[in-house]
Amino acid sequence: MDNPQLFDNHGRELSYLRLAVTDRCNLRCTYCMPAEGINYMPERELLSWEEMFRLTRIMHEMGIKKVRITGGEPFVRNGLLDFLTDLAGLKDLEICLTTNGVFLGDYIDALKKLGVNHINLSLDSLDRDRFKQITRRDDFQKVYDNLLRLIQAGFQVKINAVVMQGKNEEDIITLTEFAREHPVSVRFIEEMPFNGSGLVEETLFWDHIRILDRIKSAFPGLLARPFLYGETAHTYDIPGFKGNVGVIAAFSRTFCGTCNRIRLTAKGQVKTCLYDDGVFDLKAYLRGGVSDEEVKKQLLTLFNKRPLDGFEAENKRKGVITESMTTIGG
Ligand code: SAM
Repeated sequence: MDNPQLFDNHGRELSYLRLAVTDRCNLRCTYCMPAEGINYMPERELLSWEEMFRLTRIMHEMGIKKVRITGGEPFVRNGLLDFLTDLAGLKDLEICLTTNGVFLGDYIDALKKLGVNHINLSLDSLDRDRFKQITRRDDFQKVYDNLLRLIQAGFQVKINAVVMQGKNEEDIITLTEFAREHPVSVRFIEEMPFNGSGLVEETLFWDHIRILDRIKSAFPGLLARPFLYGETAHTYDIPGFKGNVGVIAAFSRTFCGTCNRIRLTAKGQVKTCLYDDGVFDLKAYLRGGVSDEEVKKQLLTLFNKRPLDGFEAENKRKGVITESMTTIGG
Protein backbone atom coordinates (compact mmCIF):
# COMPACT_ATOMS: atom_id res chain seq x y z
CA MET A 1 0.00 0.00 0.00
CA ASP A 2 1.49 3.40 -0.82
CA ASN A 3 -0.61 6.42 0.06
CA PRO A 4 -4.31 5.56 0.21
CA GLN A 5 -6.44 8.69 0.61
CA LEU A 6 -8.84 8.92 3.48
CA PHE A 7 -12.54 8.73 2.72
CA ASP A 8 -15.25 7.48 5.03
CA ASN A 9 -18.01 4.97 4.36
CA HIS A 10 -20.34 7.84 3.41
CA GLY A 11 -18.00 9.17 0.71
CA ARG A 12 -16.74 12.11 2.75
CA GLU A 13 -13.13 13.07 2.18
CA LEU A 14 -11.04 13.56 5.34
CA SER A 15 -8.66 16.47 4.98
CA TYR A 16 -8.54 18.17 8.38
CA LEU A 17 -6.87 16.88 11.55
CA ARG A 18 -7.68 18.38 14.93
CA LEU A 19 -4.88 17.47 17.26
CA ALA A 20 -5.16 18.01 21.03
CA VAL A 21 -1.56 18.30 22.23
CA THR A 22 -2.37 18.37 25.94
CA ASP A 23 -5.38 17.94 28.22
CA ARG A 24 -4.17 20.68 30.61
CA CYS A 25 -5.52 24.19 30.66
CA ASN A 26 -4.76 27.33 32.66
CA LEU A 27 -8.42 28.45 32.57
CA ARG A 28 -11.42 26.76 34.17
CA CYS A 29 -14.27 27.74 31.85
CA THR A 30 -17.54 26.74 33.46
CA TYR A 31 -18.91 25.12 30.30
CA CYS A 32 -15.73 23.01 29.89
CA MET A 33 -14.77 21.72 33.32
CA PRO A 34 -15.44 21.93 37.05
CA ALA A 35 -13.65 24.57 39.19
CA GLU A 36 -11.15 22.03 40.51
CA GLY A 37 -10.23 20.94 36.98
CA ILE A 38 -10.22 17.34 35.77
CA ASN A 39 -7.91 14.40 36.47
CA TYR A 40 -5.10 15.33 34.14
CA MET A 41 -3.12 12.53 32.53
CA PRO A 42 0.51 11.98 33.50
CA GLU A 43 2.84 12.99 30.64
CA ARG A 44 3.66 9.38 29.67
CA GLU A 45 -0.03 8.74 29.01
CA LEU A 46 -0.13 11.53 26.47
CA LEU A 47 1.15 11.17 22.95
CA SER A 48 4.75 12.40 22.81
CA TRP A 49 5.68 15.16 20.36
CA GLU A 50 7.48 12.56 18.25
CA GLU A 51 4.38 10.36 18.15
CA MET A 52 2.19 13.33 17.24
CA PHE A 53 4.57 14.31 14.47
CA ARG A 54 4.65 10.79 13.08
CA LEU A 55 0.86 10.53 13.08
CA THR A 56 0.42 13.93 11.47
CA ARG A 57 2.95 13.02 8.78
CA ILE A 58 1.18 9.73 8.10
CA MET A 59 -2.22 11.42 7.88
CA HIS A 60 -0.75 14.15 5.69
CA GLU A 61 0.36 11.42 3.31
CA MET A 62 -3.24 10.21 3.33
CA GLY A 63 -4.69 13.56 2.29
CA ILE A 64 -4.78 15.71 5.41
CA LYS A 65 -4.17 19.28 4.24
CA LYS A 66 -4.83 21.19 7.43
CA VAL A 67 -3.95 20.52 11.05
CA ARG A 68 -5.34 22.45 13.99
CA ILE A 69 -3.32 22.40 17.18
CA THR A 70 -5.64 22.51 20.15
CA GLY A 71 -5.95 21.07 23.64
CA GLY A 72 -6.23 21.76 26.57
CA GLU A 73 -4.26 24.93 26.14
CA PRO A 74 -1.48 24.21 23.61
CA PHE A 75 0.92 26.73 25.18
CA VAL A 76 0.98 24.99 28.56
CA ARG A 77 2.90 22.00 27.15
CA ASN A 78 6.66 22.52 26.83
CA GLY A 79 8.01 21.94 23.36
CA LEU A 80 5.15 23.36 21.31
CA LEU A 81 7.33 25.65 19.17
CA ASP A 82 9.74 22.85 18.26
CA PHE A 83 6.77 20.72 17.28
CA LEU A 84 5.33 23.51 15.13
CA THR A 85 8.75 23.94 13.51
CA ASP A 86 8.75 20.24 12.59
CA LEU A 87 5.21 20.48 11.23
CA ALA A 88 6.15 23.52 9.16
CA GLY A 89 8.55 21.21 7.31
CA LEU A 90 5.63 19.15 5.92
CA LYS A 91 4.91 20.44 2.44
CA ASP A 92 1.53 22.09 1.79
CA LEU A 93 0.18 21.49 5.26
CA GLU A 94 -1.77 24.43 6.68
CA ILE A 95 -1.08 24.79 10.39
CA CYS A 96 -3.74 26.45 12.53
CA LEU A 97 -3.90 26.98 16.26
CA THR A 98 -6.69 27.34 18.80
CA THR A 99 -5.82 29.08 22.05
CA ASN A 100 -7.33 30.96 24.94
CA GLY A 101 -4.71 33.64 24.26
CA VAL A 102 -3.40 34.12 27.79
CA PHE A 103 0.21 33.10 27.00
CA LEU A 104 0.15 34.05 23.34
CA GLY A 105 2.07 37.32 23.76
CA ASP A 106 5.47 35.61 24.01
CA TYR A 107 4.92 33.61 20.82
CA ILE A 108 3.41 35.99 18.28
CA ASP A 109 6.67 36.73 16.46
CA ALA A 110 7.72 33.08 16.39
CA LEU A 111 4.32 31.99 15.04
CA LYS A 112 4.55 34.59 12.32
CA LYS A 113 8.01 33.36 11.30
CA LEU A 114 6.75 29.78 11.17
CA GLY A 115 3.85 30.74 8.93
CA VAL A 116 1.19 29.79 11.48
CA ASN A 117 -1.18 32.49 10.29
CA HIS A 118 -4.58 31.13 11.26
CA ILE A 119 -5.35 31.58 14.93
CA ASN A 120 -8.65 30.89 16.64
CA LEU A 121 -8.92 32.75 19.89
CA SER A 122 -11.54 31.64 22.39
CA LEU A 123 -13.11 34.71 23.95
CA ASP A 124 -16.65 34.53 25.29
CA SER A 125 -16.95 38.09 26.56
CA LEU A 126 -15.53 41.56 26.08
CA ASP A 127 -16.40 42.43 29.65
CA ARG A 128 -13.74 41.76 32.26
CA ASP A 129 -16.17 40.66 34.97
CA ARG A 130 -18.13 38.33 32.72
CA PHE A 131 -14.86 36.92 31.39
CA LYS A 132 -13.77 36.23 34.95
CA GLN A 133 -17.04 34.57 35.86
CA ILE A 134 -16.93 32.32 32.82
CA THR A 135 -13.23 31.38 32.90
CA ARG A 136 -12.81 31.57 36.71
CA ARG A 137 -9.62 33.53 36.04
CA ASP A 138 -8.94 37.28 35.83
CA ASP A 139 -7.01 37.22 32.55
CA PHE A 140 -9.22 39.34 30.30
CA GLN A 141 -6.73 42.17 29.73
CA LYS A 142 -3.93 39.82 28.66
CA VAL A 143 -6.18 38.04 26.19
CA TYR A 144 -7.59 41.27 24.80
CA ASP A 145 -4.13 42.83 24.37
CA ASN A 146 -2.90 39.71 22.62
CA LEU A 147 -5.95 39.71 20.36
CA LEU A 148 -5.18 43.28 19.26
CA ARG A 149 -1.53 42.38 18.71
CA LEU A 150 -2.51 39.41 16.53
CA ILE A 151 -4.74 41.60 14.39
CA GLN A 152 -2.06 44.26 14.17
CA ALA A 153 0.49 41.67 13.06
CA GLY A 154 -1.79 40.55 10.23
CA PHE A 155 -2.86 37.10 11.44
CA GLN A 156 -6.15 35.66 10.20
CA VAL A 157 -8.06 35.67 13.46
CA LYS A 158 -11.29 33.99 14.39
CA ILE A 159 -12.86 34.69 17.76
CA ASN A 160 -14.83 31.75 19.14
CA ALA A 161 -17.51 32.52 21.71
CA VAL A 162 -19.77 29.98 23.38
CA VAL A 163 -23.18 31.54 24.03
CA MET A 164 -24.67 30.81 27.44
CA GLN A 165 -27.96 31.78 28.95
CA GLY A 166 -27.55 34.35 31.72
CA LYS A 167 -23.76 34.50 31.29
CA ASN A 168 -22.79 36.34 28.12
CA GLU A 169 -25.92 36.99 26.07
CA GLU A 170 -24.98 40.70 25.88
CA ASP A 171 -21.75 39.73 24.17
CA ILE A 172 -23.56 38.55 21.05
CA ILE A 173 -23.89 42.23 20.23
CA THR A 174 -20.61 43.53 21.68
CA LEU A 175 -18.53 40.85 19.97
CA THR A 176 -20.33 41.36 16.66
CA GLU A 177 -19.69 45.08 17.04
CA PHE A 178 -15.97 44.28 17.45
CA ALA A 179 -15.97 43.02 13.85
CA ARG A 180 -17.01 46.46 12.61
CA GLU A 181 -13.53 47.94 13.04
CA HIS A 182 -11.44 44.75 13.08
CA PRO A 183 -10.88 42.26 10.24
CA VAL A 184 -11.79 39.19 12.32
CA SER A 185 -14.38 36.48 12.05
CA VAL A 186 -16.47 36.32 15.22
CA ARG A 187 -18.14 32.93 15.58
CA PHE A 188 -20.83 32.13 18.08
CA ILE A 189 -20.96 28.50 19.16
CA GLU A 190 -23.82 26.54 20.69
CA GLU A 191 -22.88 25.15 24.06
CA MET A 192 -22.26 21.40 24.05
CA PRO A 193 -22.45 18.96 26.96
CA PHE A 194 -18.67 18.42 27.18
CA ASN A 195 -18.32 20.05 30.58
CA GLY A 196 -16.67 17.23 32.49
CA SER A 197 -19.64 16.72 34.80
CA GLY A 198 -21.83 14.25 32.96
CA LEU A 199 -24.76 16.61 33.42
CA VAL A 200 -26.43 17.10 30.10
CA GLU A 201 -29.05 19.70 29.28
CA GLU A 202 -31.57 18.17 26.90
CA THR A 203 -32.58 21.50 25.42
CA LEU A 204 -30.51 24.45 24.45
CA PHE A 205 -31.87 27.95 24.88
CA TRP A 206 -29.26 29.71 22.75
CA ASP A 207 -29.41 27.50 19.70
CA HIS A 208 -28.11 28.68 16.32
CA ILE A 209 -31.51 30.05 15.26
CA ARG A 210 -31.92 32.20 18.33
CA ILE A 211 -28.32 33.42 18.12
CA LEU A 212 -28.79 34.43 14.49
CA ASP A 213 -32.08 36.16 15.28
CA ARG A 214 -30.37 38.20 17.97
CA ILE A 215 -27.59 39.29 15.58
CA LYS A 216 -30.14 40.11 12.86
CA SER A 217 -32.22 42.19 15.25
CA ALA A 218 -29.27 44.53 15.80
CA PHE A 219 -27.68 44.24 12.35
CA PRO A 220 -30.50 43.70 9.86
CA GLY A 221 -28.28 43.98 6.76
CA LEU A 222 -26.68 40.56 7.32
CA LEU A 223 -25.62 38.86 4.07
CA ALA A 224 -25.14 35.08 4.11
CA ARG A 225 -22.04 33.66 2.48
CA PRO A 226 -22.28 30.30 0.69
CA PHE A 227 -21.74 27.34 3.05
CA LEU A 228 -18.62 25.49 1.92
CA TYR A 229 -17.67 21.81 2.21
CA GLY A 230 -16.09 21.02 5.56
CA GLU A 231 -17.16 24.24 7.27
CA THR A 232 -19.03 24.33 10.53
CA ALA A 233 -19.90 28.02 10.66
CA HIS A 234 -22.59 29.74 8.66
CA THR A 235 -20.90 33.04 7.93
CA TYR A 236 -22.45 36.46 7.32
CA ASP A 237 -21.07 39.75 6.12
CA ILE A 238 -22.40 42.99 7.49
CA PRO A 239 -22.21 46.04 5.22
CA GLY A 240 -19.56 48.46 6.45
CA PHE A 241 -17.83 45.89 8.66
CA LYS A 242 -14.17 44.95 8.25
CA GLY A 243 -14.85 41.53 9.76
CA ASN A 244 -17.74 39.08 9.63
CA VAL A 245 -19.82 36.90 11.96
CA GLY A 246 -20.62 33.22 12.02
CA VAL A 247 -22.85 30.82 13.91
CA ILE A 248 -21.81 27.25 14.66
CA ALA A 249 -24.63 24.78 15.36
CA ALA A 250 -22.33 22.55 17.38
CA PHE A 251 -25.09 20.96 19.48
CA SER A 252 -27.80 21.01 16.80
CA ARG A 253 -25.29 19.33 14.49
CA THR A 254 -26.53 20.68 11.17
CA PHE A 255 -23.21 20.34 9.30
CA CYS A 256 -22.25 16.67 9.73
CA GLY A 257 -23.01 15.91 6.07
CA THR A 258 -19.76 17.54 4.95
CA CYS A 259 -17.58 16.76 7.96
CA ASN A 260 -13.95 16.38 6.86
CA ARG A 261 -12.39 16.06 10.34
CA ILE A 262 -10.30 13.55 12.20
CA ARG A 263 -9.81 14.17 15.89
CA LEU A 264 -6.91 12.89 17.88
CA THR A 265 -7.10 13.41 21.62
CA ALA A 266 -4.06 14.09 23.79
CA LYS A 267 -4.26 10.49 25.04
CA GLY A 268 -4.06 9.28 21.47
CA GLN A 269 -7.68 8.26 20.97
CA VAL A 270 -9.00 8.59 17.45
CA LYS A 271 -12.43 10.16 17.20
CA THR A 272 -14.26 9.87 13.91
CA CYS A 273 -16.89 12.25 15.35
CA LEU A 274 -16.79 14.80 18.16
CA TYR A 275 -19.72 13.00 19.78
CA ASP A 276 -18.26 9.47 19.81
CA ASP A 277 -16.37 8.30 22.89
CA GLY A 278 -13.13 7.51 21.08
CA VAL A 279 -13.05 4.66 18.61
CA PHE A 280 -9.43 3.52 18.81
CA ASP A 281 -6.35 3.81 21.02
CA LEU A 282 -3.75 4.86 18.48
CA LYS A 283 -1.14 5.53 21.18
CA ALA A 284 -1.19 1.91 22.39
CA TYR A 285 -1.16 0.75 18.77
CA LEU A 286 1.89 2.87 17.95
CA ARG A 287 3.71 1.76 21.08
CA GLY A 288 3.15 -1.83 20.01
CA GLY A 289 5.71 -1.15 17.26
CA VAL A 290 3.56 -0.95 14.13
CA SER A 291 4.68 0.28 10.73
CA ASP A 292 3.34 3.36 8.92
CA GLU A 293 1.52 1.02 6.55
CA GLU A 294 -0.28 -0.66 9.42
CA VAL A 295 -1.34 2.72 10.83
CA LYS A 296 -2.74 3.70 7.46
CA LYS A 297 -4.65 0.45 7.17
CA GLN A 298 -6.07 0.94 10.66
CA LEU A 299 -7.23 4.47 9.88
CA LEU A 300 -8.98 3.29 6.73
CA THR A 301 -10.74 0.59 8.74
CA LEU A 302 -11.89 3.07 11.40
CA PHE A 303 -13.28 5.55 8.89
CA ASN A 304 -15.03 2.77 7.07
CA LYS A 305 -17.34 2.45 10.08
CA ARG A 306 -17.96 6.11 10.69
CA PRO A 307 -21.39 7.21 11.94
CA LEU A 308 -23.40 9.32 9.55
CA ASP A 309 -23.73 12.19 12.00
CA GLY A 310 -23.22 13.34 15.56
CA PHE A 311 -26.56 11.92 16.68
CA GLU A 312 -25.70 8.40 15.52
CA ALA A 313 -22.26 8.74 17.13
CA GLU A 314 -23.81 9.84 20.43
CA ASN A 315 -26.32 6.96 20.36
CA LYS A 316 -23.48 4.47 19.91
CA ARG A 317 -21.56 5.69 22.95
CA LYS A 318 -21.13 3.29 25.84
CA GLY A 319 -22.47 5.86 28.29
CA VAL A 320 -23.59 9.47 28.50
CA ILE A 321 -21.12 12.24 27.75
CA THR A 322 -18.93 12.79 30.82
CA GLU A 323 -15.72 14.12 29.34
CA SER A 324 -14.46 17.67 29.31
CA MET A 325 -13.71 19.43 26.04
CA THR A 326 -10.18 19.98 27.34
CA THR A 327 -9.45 16.29 26.68
CA ILE A 328 -10.95 16.45 23.18
CA GLY A 329 -9.84 19.78 21.80
CA GLY A 330 -13.18 21.11 20.58
N1 SAM B 1 -7.49 26.08 25.22
C1 SAM B 1 -7.80 26.36 23.86
C2 SAM B 1 -8.89 27.40 23.78
O1 SAM B 1 -9.40 27.83 24.80
O2 SAM B 1 -9.21 27.79 22.67
C3 SAM B 1 -8.15 25.14 23.03
C4 SAM B 1 -9.01 24.09 23.64
S1 SAM B 1 -10.68 24.55 23.94
C5 SAM B 1 -11.30 23.04 24.61
C6 SAM B 1 -11.33 24.60 22.31
C7 SAM B 1 -12.66 25.26 22.15
O3 SAM B 1 -13.66 24.45 22.73
C8 SAM B 1 -12.79 26.63 22.79
O4 SAM B 1 -13.20 27.56 21.82
C9 SAM B 1 -13.87 26.43 23.82
O5 SAM B 1 -14.67 27.58 23.97
C10 SAM B 1 -14.66 25.28 23.22
N2 SAM B 1 -15.47 24.57 24.20
C11 SAM B 1 -15.07 24.00 25.34
N3 SAM B 1 -16.11 23.43 25.99
C12 SAM B 1 -17.20 23.65 25.23
C13 SAM B 1 -18.58 23.32 25.37
N4 SAM B 1 -19.04 22.65 26.41
N5 SAM B 1 -19.42 23.71 24.39
C14 SAM B 1 -18.96 24.41 23.32
N6 SAM B 1 -17.67 24.74 23.13
C15 SAM B 1 -16.80 24.38 24.08
